[in-house]
Amino acid sequence: MTGLPNRACTEAAIRDRFASRPDTRSALLVLGLERLPEIIKTLGHVVSDRLMREAGARVQAVAGDTLVARATDTQLSVFMPDAALGDARKLAQAVVEALSDPYREADLTLDFAPAVGIAPAPEHGTDAGVLLRRAEVAMIGALRAVDPIALYDPVTDPHRPERLSLMGELRHALEFGGLQLHYQPKLNLQEDRIDSAEGLTRWVHPVLGPVPPDAFIALAEETGNIRRVTRWALDAGIAQASRWKAEGRALRVCINISARDLEDADLPRRIAALLQAHGVAPAQIAPEITESAIMGKPDAAIAVLRRLADQGIDLAIDDFGVGHSSFAYLRRLPVRELKIDKTFITHLAHSREDRIIVGSIVELGHHLGYRVTAEGVEDAAALALLREIGCDHAQGFLISRPLPVEEFARSIQDGHGRPLVETGH
Ligand code: C2E
Ligand code: MG
Ligand code: MG
Repeated sequence: MTGLPNRACTEAAIRDRFASRPDTRSALLVLGLERLPEIIKTLGHVVSDRLMREAGARVQAVAGDTLVARATDTQLSVFMPDAALGDARKLAQAVVEALSDPYREADLTLDFAPAVGIAPAPEHGTDAGVLLRRAEVAMIGALRAVDPIALYDPVTDPHRPERLSLMGELRHALEFGGLQLHYQPKLNLQEDRIDSAEGLTRWVHPVLGPVPPDAFIALAEETGNIRRVTRWALDAGIAQASRWKAEGRALRVCINISARDLEDADLPRRIAALLQAHGVAPAQIAPEITESAIMGKPDAAIAVLRRLADQGIDLAIDDFGVGHSSFAYLRRLPVRELKIDKTFITHLAHSREDRIIVGSIVELGHHLGYRVTAEGVEDAAALALLREIGCDHAQGFLISRPLPVEEFARSIQDGHGRPLVETGH
């Protein structure tokens, strides 16, 4: 159909390469076209075949002697023996550029919208099937990303076999003290002091090193382990709130709760039991829940949130502004606080639009009776703007990164919860 060699040719080339020179550096590129499934559906296979043929010809033109093949119905591959990662990236860039001009025939103009995944070898495998799959995983990641070129990253690979053992190891870490809560201070802008802290789970894997929460939390959610993580984080956070209280520091502790936790009708009772066991008042903790977690199964979620609110626990909506809820919907939630997502805050100083959005959220939020926190505050200009806007709390690297508890204690000066950094007052 494309006139190119097929997948078996690529597999044979990879096999031969590593059979004769097992430690040679190579790279496999897989190219996908984002709109192809849609094109097949609306215009049929005849057009999509011609489009693939044209894509193949353009790729071959920039790839020179390198083996370009048809990997699947909708994907092309390029196998680069003796290629360093830099060469692979260069060729990927050239491929993307070669496909930046749309495909034209008769009165039809179609964007290729290409994405390229790169699997470097031997580090990500020398087996042809494994390399093809990993380059494809990277390509699929790139389809949804700003950068159309992506390198295979084992940490985010949803299919990798290590996932299951990773979850086994997470359970082990939960049981044997392998996790830590780090605390990131929240600055009360009106009083200019730190009055609360968000607990963020940290896992240093004995072999892999630090595993980012975005990787293991999502995985724990998918594999049903998140409730154990939440149980652990609640216990650790509430115990810490109790210690701070004993030291004369009235710091409220914020803990992240996931969607799956809200399916657990037993959660309010368990939190009540933890509060009681540690002698902590409900007002000293504030669970954070993302909008999307609530929107998944809103009725069940609202029932659990109501019971928490009835116990005197203040709830916050995390990552506000990037989900799909509306103020009309939020009114039904027993929530006291909105945390504006960091994507609106990071560029606050330079983006008029972001200032308008943040200003509007704060104003509307206040009218509806919510406290408003800005997360991801990285520069003094953003902090000054947030003060001006009348935001209640600020959290971000400017004030402090999340810190282990001993460092956190040191970073809060003189025991009065004053911030270390110059915050403008
Ligand atoms: P989140 O709850 O929105 O937490 C804020 C994230 O923003 C944290 O990332 C924090 O380190 C980061 N951050 C704070 N200040 C700044 C800043 O100024 N700039 C930038 N760019 N980032 C900043 P982290 O610790 O990697 O956590 C990521 C996410 O993982 C959290 O997002 C939360 O959704 C989840 N997570 C972490 N710990 C737990 C947990 O114990 N349970 C659950 N369910 N989720 C957790
Ligand atoms: Mg949070
Ligand atoms: Mg957040």
